[in-house]
Amino acid sequence: MKIYWTKINKIIEETPDIKTYLLDCPEGFTWEEGSHTHFALEGFNAGEHPNRSLIRHMSISTLPHENSIGITTRIREQCSEFKTILRNLEVGNKVALFKTYSNVPLKREDKNVYLLSSGVGLATFRPLVLDYFQRADNVKQIHSLNIDSSKEFLFTNVFESTPDKKFTSRFVDNRKDYYEELKSLAEDKEGLFYVVGSDEFLMQNIEVLREHDIKPEQMMLDKHEQELPEFLPKQKIL
Ligand SMILES: Cc1cc2nc3c(=O)[nH]c(=O)nc-3n(C[C@H](O)[C@H](O)[C@H](O)COP(=O)(O)OP(=O)(O)OC[C@H]3O[C@@H](n4cnc5c(N)ncnc54)[C@H](O)[C@@H]3O)c2cc1C
Repeated sequence: MKIYWTKINKIIEETPDIKTYLLDCPEGFTWEEGSHTHFALEGFNAGEHPNRSLIRHMSISTLPHENSIGITTRIREQCSEFKTILRNLEVGNKVALFKTYSNVPLKREDKNVYLLSSGVGLATFRPLVLDYFQRADNVKQIHSLNIDSSKEFLFTNVFESTPDKKFTSRFVDNRKDYYEELKSLAEDKEGLFYVVGSDEFLMQNIEVLREHDIKPEQMMLDKHEQELPEFLPKQKIL
């Protein structure tokens, strides 16, 4: 396993409690849209075994052409040891990345794509949308629906409806509006539904989609293949 050590080159305050850490791209480090990585803090591999409290899965919120690896995360006042350390890091500090992989690349199957997310889950989708803006081939259109009860919505410059580009986006701050819209989106029986958020959020979305006869193979989750049957049991049988 290759560990890429790199440096923070910029810290963006997206909202009062969400930050994006932009990291230098180490030589040989590549990724595609929808990727997540293992993001680790100094000292994580100092002992005999890796110190898990210094490692977190994080999505990469940028694309390679932006020349920085973006990690977007919410740091609340009450937070883990990991986030407490991260909060105090500055430009120039070292962090490590390893095991980078995309479970949710943009599928180009001439279908409508729906990106369903809660909170910072939107970070996973930012590169999918940028990739689509660069090259719209074989994607009919994209619609994003994000729920964040804090009303501090993320990446509003990217997630802005642009009918010319066949891209629409909606932010909601409550579950009623969210599930009402989800039900109407689920009327598209041919659509591809990407879902990113907590496990509970995934389960609730999957339930609504299934009630509307959306098949497991139309649902894209940021989960490893081995984890999928837990969420989409039918996929095991198919
Ligand atoms: C494939 C994948 C991709 C992911 N991508 C991202 C991503 O892009 N961005 C991202 O932010 N996360 C992402 N995650 C989730 C991430 O790995 C962390 O699990 C998540 O950010 C929570 O971090 P944390 O455990 O450090 O807890 P925190 O965020 O610090 O805390 C979690 C909750 O516990 C509470 N809490 C924590 N410590 C205390 C305490 N001492 N006292 C009281 N309450 C406390 C907090 O208030 C909060 O509500 C991803 C996960 C996976 C599997």
